Amino acid sequence: MRTCVGCRGRALAGELLRVVVVDGELVLDLRRRIGGRGAWLHPDPGCLTRAERRRAFPRALRVPGPLDVAGVRGQLEQRTHTTGSGASRAAKEERKQVDPS
Ligand SMILES: [Zn+2]
Repeated sequence: MRTCVGCRGRALAGELLRVVVVDGELVLDLRRRIGGRGAWLHPDPGCLTRAERRRAFPRALRVPGPLDVAGVRGQLEQRTHTTGSGASRAAKEERKQVDPS
């Protein structure tokens, strides 16, 4: 079980998205292959907004200073628009992969 940094709700890792910092920028680690610290987030723009307001990302990822969530928001919105009914299938595929954290 993982805790969403937005709503603090607990969920299976397969139901949450992994967010990491690459070169000082937040990105979604959709394939879960990027090493280092990860933060977990529901695939929900509302959770992203809550995490941003609470400054949850710098804390969860142990980086100094504010992080821009614009990139992650873009990735999230794209994902929401393009997946649709295939979302559960994608989640199953992600769940099969080894959790690096
Ligand atoms: Zn959440």
